[in-house]
Amino acid sequence: MYKKMILIRFGDLMLKGKNQNIFINAIKRLIKDKLSDLNVTIINTYNRVYLELNDVNPDLVVDRLMLVSGLHSFSFVYKTTLDLEDIKNTAIQLIEDELSDFNHFKIETKRAYKQFPHTSLEFSKLMAPAILKHFDGKIKVDVKNPTETLTIEIRENGTYLFLKTIKGLGGYPVGTGGKGLVMLSGGIDSPVAAFLALKQGVEVELLHFESTPLTPLESVDKVLKIAQKLARYMPKNKIKMHICHFTPLHNLLLENVPDPYLITIMRRRMYHIAQQFARFQNILVLINGESIGQVASQTLESLNVVEEVTKIPIIRPVVTYDKNDIIKIAKQIDTYETSIIPFEDCCTVYVPKKPVTKPKLNVCEDIEKGFRYQVIQEEAIHRITTFTVHADKEIKLANYGFDFKEAFKEWKHDYESSK
Ligand code: ATP
Ligand code: MG
Repeated sequence: MYKKMILIRFGDLMLKGKNQNIFINAIKRLIKDKLSDLNVTIINTYNRVYLELNDVNPDLVVDRLMLVSGLHSFSFVYKTTLDLEDIKNTAIQLIEDELSDFNHFKIETKRAYKQFPHTSLEFSKLMAPAILKHFDGKIKVDVKNPTETLTIEIRENGTYLFLKTIKGLGGYPVGTGGKGLVMLSGGIDSPVAAFLALKQGVEVELLHFESTPLTPLESVDKVLKIAQKLARYMPKNKIKMHICHFTPLHNLLLENVPDPYLITIMRRRMYHIAQQFARFQNILVLINGESIGQVASQTLESLNVVEEVTKIPIIRPVVTYDKNDIIKIAKQIDTYETSIIPFEDCCTVYVPKKPVTKPKLNVCEDIEKGFRYQVIQEEAIHRITTFTVHADKEIKLANYGFDFKEAFKEWKHDYESSK
């Protein structure tokens, strides 16, 4: 008598004029990627997608749809014929299935099929008494302040009924907004920054600076795990991860930079490397997880002095976010539990006791003139190694050119003997 389906809407993408088709096709491709391993039938119409769930658990499908950027909202719909009796019975079944406690109820009919013999208003008025009768006084009609609205859409190929609308990610389909390079640390903020950028359509690639054996191998593992979580949102469920072996430069900075300026100079070098690498890769912007005032290196003075080494635009999606709001998103995208695993990365190892909070540009420049870092920096850029991280495939560190295992042994030995 009726079929359960999911109706997907694209929302305000409709505002995008000529680009409409590009956006809609990109979302359709993303939906296909996310459902590729499930027995779900995808029915594409011009500005909507319907899913037939077959035997698949609806919760699983909902989880997957929540990975599609640009998806505005979706509803579970019951599809039936254009026959009045069928529509009434389906409405009753839908209400019984989805509502446990309700009283202020409204029916809204949308008649897209103009040959249907009743107008929208007529049809709502026709349906209401029949439904009310069935529920025997349990439902009260309240068209002004309804708590529940039953929508009945009448189309040429059938009638679609639904009660609830679930909000999707919104934003734009990832891939339609150009490419950005996210500086990804193992912390909480940068994965959230990556997510917010890709939700707005930016195709992100990731760059991580690792300092094994100064920092443990596990910190790289952690970043790769975060990359896997982010890959779930990307086309084909995969993401590019670039790893920069920062240790030689890191050692040089430890030897030559006075303690209070260590983090500032280190970040200047990281930005510089990231910019150059982005240019090689035709990437248009850098993206990072900085947030005003969070730590000494993120005061406005620090941001000025660090950013001074770059010309490329730098996007900071969480710059004004409260930490609690960032954590909320980190939990939503499932990176939080990995981010809080306590391993050090280059910005946390050997943190100076009193980092400067208002660094001066001329001091930075004087320090940098005092030693030769350029060749080692160039080498670091040329040794950047790229992985493709798949959302559901195990990552093998052995594929990485640098011998992590050896480095890790060395680190463990140093660590044990320093205790
Ligand atoms: P949290 O503040 O939760 O520890 P974080 O990622 O913000 O995490 P910070 O040390 O505050 O870490 O660094 C600020 C930003 O600088 C990061 O968001 C990230 O974009 C970039 N960054 C820091 N360390 C690295 C690194 N090792 N590799 C790549 N980018 C880094
Ligand atoms: Mg931070």
